[in-house]
Amino acid sequence: MRILLVEDEPTLSDQISAALIESGFVIDHADNGQDALHLGAEESYDAIILDLGLPIMDGMTVLKNWRAKGLTTPVLILTARDSWHDKVSGIDAGADDYLSKPFHMQELLARVRALIRRASGIASSTLRCGSVMLDTTSGRVTVDSQNVGLTAHELKVLSFLMHHQDEIISRTTLTEHIYAQDFDRDSNTIDVFIGRLRKKIPENMIETVRGLGYRMRASP
Ligand code: CA
Repeated sequence: MRILLVEDEPTLSDQISAALIESGFVIDHADNGQDALHLGAEESYDAIILDLGLPIMDGMTVLKNWRAKGLTTPVLILTARDSWHDKVSGIDAGADDYLSKPFHMQELLARVRALIRRASGIASSTLRCGSVMLDTTSGRVTVDSQNVGLTAHELKVLSFLMHHQDEIISRTTLTEHIYAQDFDRDSNTIDVFIGRLRKKIPENMIETVRGLGYRMRASP
């Protein structure tokens, strides 16, 4: 899952990035409204964390621009402490959730996970596909209640497919959602991760759709 983090305060953005990466997310970072506007409109993200007080263009304007362009990515805004009017205008401008500074990193992570689940129409923090279960809070994966050890990349691929069950997901989409923008992306590595995952979960659960990509289904 790939996140756009828009925050101009270096210490805070480093802390948020570190916590998100530790939780298995990949991050692109913008430190001003103009770059944020561009990245959000041009790249594919599973969620966006948007500070409202930004140089060049403020966060509220960025958010309104994205929504006017039809961008539906879930957006969590970061507001100043006790600034209730920012929360109201932010939600009216199309934000899906907010956090007031200062906040606990665990709360930010929980809210981001919830936004991503809701965008996929999933209410529970545990995803299920047949005998495969993924606890999105801990990153723990089980097959028939037995723990399965996955590498960080395998987990990123499985998590994306499980959030989008029954959908055909192209290699390009998978590549975009498991690597950050500045990473040297190679979509061939996706096939390698899929091959390894098939050895760890019931093999026919990830189906190859010729010429289009992959589809994860409980009963192919
Ligand atoms: Ca700021």
